[in-house]
Amino acid sequence: MSLFGITRRASLAIGISILSAVAFSGTALSQTFPDRVVTMVVPFAAGGSTDVVARVIAGKMSELLGQQVIVQNVGGGGGSLGAANVTRAEPDGYTILMGTVATHALNPLILKTKPYDAEKDFAPISLLVVVPNVLVVNPELPVKTVQELVDLLKANPDKYSYASSGNGTPLHLSGELFKKMAGVSMQHIPYKGAGPALNDVIGNQVPIMFDNLPSSSSHIKAGTLRALGVTTKDKAQSFPDLPTIAETIPGYETYTWNALFAPAGTPPEVIAKLNEAANKAMQDPAVVERMKEFSATIVGSTPEELSAHVKAEIAKWTPVVKDANVQMD
Ligand code: GLU
Repeated sequence: MSLFGITRRASLAIGISILSAVAFSGTALSQTFPDRVVTMVVPFAAGGSTDVVARVIAGKMSELLGQQVIVQNVGGGGGSLGAANVTRAEPDGYTILMGTVATHALNPLILKTKPYDAEKDFAPISLLVVVPNVLVVNPELPVKTVQELVDLLKANPDKYSYASSGNGTPLHLSGELFKKMAGVSMQHIPYKGAGPALNDVIGNQVPIMFDNLPSSSSHIKAGTLRALGVTTKDKAQSFPDLPTIAETIPGYETYTWNALFAPAGTPPEVIAKLNEAANKAMQDPAVVERMKEFSATIVGSTPEELSAHVKAEIAKWTPVVKDANVQMD
């Protein structure tokens, strides 16, 4: 007899039936999944790169899954607010996150308050795209090249400020790395995403910004922003004349990626369905065309590959964040 008056055998039987009920409901869930709307949380404000990329992919995934995939913007905390929300959602595949290098590598390294564990609290789905970042300025700023900006900042210590999508994002790191490597100073102004930050740079409230190329492309083409250089080692396909920042500041490199994650504990069969839809969406000719316009490199992966990618990215950025001294409260 156990303490609660149930025999060991009886409690074993109850245990087994609970387990099979859980397994059955997992299978039943995955067989009918999705039978209602799926919410894709974008952890940044509308109009930024994560939002722009997510809306293209969610549209195609809706067709492939036969259910609407809606985008919900939850900006703040450099992406950590929206990401934390997803870790608290039901692990049933109906709430997923459009994660980025911010939510899964940089936030945990830069932000002292860590609302989630980037590896343990998520079930990876697929690594979708890698995108370059870009240094843009308001066209009124009297600089046309990276070197001219460096000279202007050197002549005017702390006079200028730059906008980013928030503390702990690749755009914040891009700015801090630039300051450190070029030996210049400027003030950082964080926003809830690149969308509102861009509005203020276009309106000349803030003259300088590091952005993700997908959200800046149309503004660069329209001339409302002037691009000085891309943050990647190689030039961006859609802007072949735009130099890399590394041509002026050797060794300089940042980039962003977007990947889908579900809360930890989501049944593997559901993850498999989301993975298949996401990877198929990335092969759709219209999606391929849009990503090309954004200079986004399509990847597409297995959940295991995404898991390895997150580990590798945390290892890659740890010394960079430490060297650039970018810890935030
Ligand atoms: N800076 C963020 C990132 O690259 C995204 C910014 C945004 O989408 O607003 O992870």
